[in-house]
Amino acid sequence: MIPSTMQDFPLSVAAILRHGARVYGGSECVTWTGGGPPRRATFAEIARNAERLASALARLGVRRGDRVATFCWNNQEHLEAYFAVPAMGAVLHTLNIRLFPEQLSHIINHADDQVVIVDDNLVPLLARVVNELPAVEAFIVVGDGDASPLEANGAPVLRYHDLLAAEEPGYAWPDMDERSAASMCYTSGTTGDPKGVVYSHRSTFLHAMAVQSASMVGITEADRVLTIVPMFHVNAWGLPYGAFLSGATLHMPGPFMQPEHLTKFIAQEKSTLASAVPTIWNGILAYGEQHEIDLSSLRSGTSGGAAAPRVLLERFEERYGLRIIQGWGMTETSPLGGMAFPPPGVEPGTSEDMDWRLKSGRVAAGVEMRIVDDSGAELPWDGEAVGEIEVRGPWITGSYHRDPAPQKFDDGWLRTGDIGTIDDRGFFQITDRAKDVIKSGGEWISSVELENHLMAHPAVAEAAVIGIPDPRWDERPLACVVLRPDTTATSDELAAFLAGKVARWQVPEYWTFMDEIPKTTVGKFDKKPLRAHHKDATLKIEHIER
Ligand code: ADP
Repeated sequence: MIPSTMQDFPLSVAAILRHGARVYGGSECVTWTGGGPPRRATFAEIARNAERLASALARLGVRRGDRVATFCWNNQEHLEAYFAVPAMGAVLHTLNIRLFPEQLSHIINHADDQVVIVDDNLVPLLARVVNELPAVEAFIVVGDGDASPLEANGAPVLRYHDLLAAEEPGYAWPDMDERSAASMCYTSGTTGDPKGVVYSHRSTFLHAMAVQSASMVGITEADRVLTIVPMFHVNAWGLPYGAFLSGATLHMPGPFMQPEHLTKFIAQEKSTLASAVPTIWNGILAYGEQHEIDLSSLRSGTSGGAAAPRVLLERFEERYGLRIIQGWGMTETSPLGGMAFPPPGVEPGTSEDMDWRLKSGRVAAGVEMRIVDDSGAELPWDGEAVGEIEVRGPWITGSYHRDPAPQKFDDGWLRTGDIGTIDDRGFFQITDRAKDVIKSGGEWISSVELENHLMAHPAVAEAAVIGIPDPRWDERPLACVVLRPDTTATSDELAAFLAGKVARWQVPEYWTFMDEIPKTTVGKFDKKPLRAHHKDATLKIEHIER
């Protein structure tokens, strides 16, 4: 073997920042303010502010490896922290602002966060746990709203803009070991307790390269990317870092996550791309039924985090000519694991095109994927065999923070807990989560498939299907349905609607109607409370003949 002659250049967040600031210094971060003009900062300004923030944090005693948390919306200051904290060698911990208080204090303490940067309008939410954070040494408040509830902790409560104003730009970013921690994020805990994933500089850099590439999200300097997916949830799908590598302008909605604001933002600032979970896309669609909206600047949208129902993609295409592409990922996978761009030769707008776009993704370059059966044996890539999806690669976690969790790994592969198929070209389809799949008479029923069919019924606004115990079949599906306002549909009608679309034995005989499907902190259907309500017998269930 001969040694390579290539430089051993570390991949780092500082390198991403330097590139964006130098090469695309004029690209912008635009933060929506709800009423007045949006706040604008160029990448060059963001970089200077990141240098000031790093100096301020260092002055507060933040050292390499220390954890600095953010409790913020998607905005300019959050972006500055995204760069300053990892680039100075500390570790950015993005906190999910929608966690229950017990979960929030648990993860702040579990991660050992020393400093928390918080938006002033989120102070009341953080204040609920302020007495339970013994390790926090300072709070830094963005904005000049009331921050007095944080004083109960005893740690100093400082103002972000005062701290930055007292510093000069020009922080010398240290050389970093690319394998050291850059940031961390806890899983949102849809099916279990939150677990901490710690990203390295290397994984962050490589993931950002993948995000901006054309076979993934594909962004360039010509794009203006509306980042609806929260920066506290799986790194906003890597878009902030991807934007600094590609020069794409970032559109940040701040707290204005309502469809009214998102659509105004798009129309006014001419966003070219928007990324959101299906529930947000659904909200935009519903809003557009009642109001005039202009999405014509969008050249594409991305959806991920949960399966996008066919009807959602179809309606966006029919009404707005907007092509939404699905992606798949998890907190553990940084998150991008695949995007579902149809293969060449498929005519956009055809039903074949839609079939491809309903795949969960095509395996991302850099990620290796396989499916295995219950005994751990690998299954073929034939688009038919159904098993658990396992992944490995440079931006896939290999353990959890202070919790090795060996049961989540299989010989170096991450067990995703997602069940699905892969075809011979690497297109994969998630049919369910292992914990949600309904096992009926020795066969599996995909809850996701039933939900998607149901949500295509004109009277159905939302549908979630869970397995309930059944003495004869082991489990049977219970369909939980939310009807659209001013519409009616009976369980018999909905069952008949499903009968032509799935095998007869898969059609649920148990039905319940409700006002809203409970959602997780990141807007996914939350089946845990539905199961609990079923167990407590608090659901009014209709049983129909099969
Ligand atoms: P949580 O596991 O708590 O929901 P994550 O946000 O990390 O937290 O969610 C990852 C999970 O989201 C995946 O394991 C998968 O079940 C689901 N998911 C993500 N993207 C898709 C998609 N395009 N289609 C179906 N499910 C998806």
